[in-house]
Amino acid sequence: MLDTLTQQPPDALLALIKLYDADPRPAKIDLGVGVYRTADGGTPVFACIKAAEAKLVAEQDTKAYLGPEGDMGFVHALMPHIFGGEDPSQGGRIDGMQTPGGTGAVRLAVALAKKAGVARVLMGTPSWPNHAQIMADTGVELVAFNHAAADGSADLDALAAALKAAQPGDAVLLHGCCHNPTGIDYTPAQWDAIVDLLAETGVLPIIDLAYQGLGAGMDEDAYGTRAVVARLPQALIAYSCDKNFGLYRDRVGAFYVFTRDAAQTQAALSNGHALARANWSMPPDHGAAAVRMVLEDAALTANWLEELASMRARIRQVRDTLAASGMAGTVNLVPLGQQQGMFAMLPLDKEQIAAIRADHAVYMAGSGRINIAGLTTDNIGTFVSALAAVSG
Ligand code: PMP
Repeated sequence: MLDTLTQQPPDALLALIKLYDADPRPAKIDLGVGVYRTADGGTPVFACIKAAEAKLVAEQDTKAYLGPEGDMGFVHALMPHIFGGEDPSQGGRIDGMQTPGGTGAVRLAVALAKKAGVARVLMGTPSWPNHAQIMADTGVELVAFNHAAADGSADLDALAAALKAAQPGDAVLLHGCCHNPTGIDYTPAQWDAIVDLLAETGVLPIIDLAYQGLGAGMDEDAYGTRAVVARLPQALIAYSCDKNFGLYRDRVGAFYVFTRDAAQTQAALSNGHALARANWSMPPDHGAAAVRMVLEDAALTANWLEELASMRARIRQVRDTLAASGMAGTVNLVPLGQQQGMFAMLPLDKEQIAAIRADHAVYMAGSGRINIAGLTTDNIGTFVSALAAVSG
């Protein structure tokens, strides 16, 4: 029976990491993998996480099971940072559960939407490739619309047309901030217009907030999420702590449900618990417990926000330097200064991407996506010259 299974292609980005590692050229540049890097090229554990982990190891006296909802102290401690305001739960209308990373949260959001009757999810493309994979695997139809306009801003007309053409029972998946892979976010005014359209059409918003704090700021990056829960009757929110706490492999995420009242939110979440139980039973504890300990301690929270601010500043500085380079061959780098987060898409074709790797040791995804944080003051000039050489 198992011999019916055919070989699947390897994950393209993981294959790129292997090629990069095997390249002996000392000046090679890795713009492929989606992790934050310091100016020295490292991805260190946050100091606040190190401190929280030490405390956790010293104080934790059991590893007995929690439940499918995970560490609710963690889930609730994050809420003021995500939703803001005097009462981040809006009287219990918003509540959540811990998930294995943002991926687990997106998975639950799509599966729960499907259980509630959603058959189609609208989504701007290109998007994080796993979005489409999760929808296919969950059995909902993906209805794609164009995300990026030619000038490097968001194609709001395409989004508006998709929402206006929506059928009853449709959902829409929106990136909360730091769009992956384009870096093209909605402005506050655009979010307000999107919320108007959602109110008009009744399409269910699913917000994927995987990079809060890496764009313009913690509050700024939550603008859309907060506008949605301030003005609409319902929403699902998938959250990742893997980038903004540097916890990637520890798999730290949360899934939040927002409905008309506290009882309905708990009813919806009980379905989330059942889905989790059948998938992973319960999420891994360690990383989420460390985040909880950071957020329960004012000094550690301040350290976290400072570290995040320095990451944000570094991303901004690289973006500004790229934008100041203007044209690199045929590639216009100016819009990268207006965009946000770790990623940008460059309009290179397959041959140019192969040439920049072969001739200049610059490793980037086959889609043309680059990780902004892979660039430093030392290598940015080399990168811009390489871009000019392959595209000019
Ligand atoms: N959503 C988006 C848009 C992402 O880019 C990612 C990570 N690449 C995730 C969700 C999932 O993150 P995690 O590693 O926490 O599962």
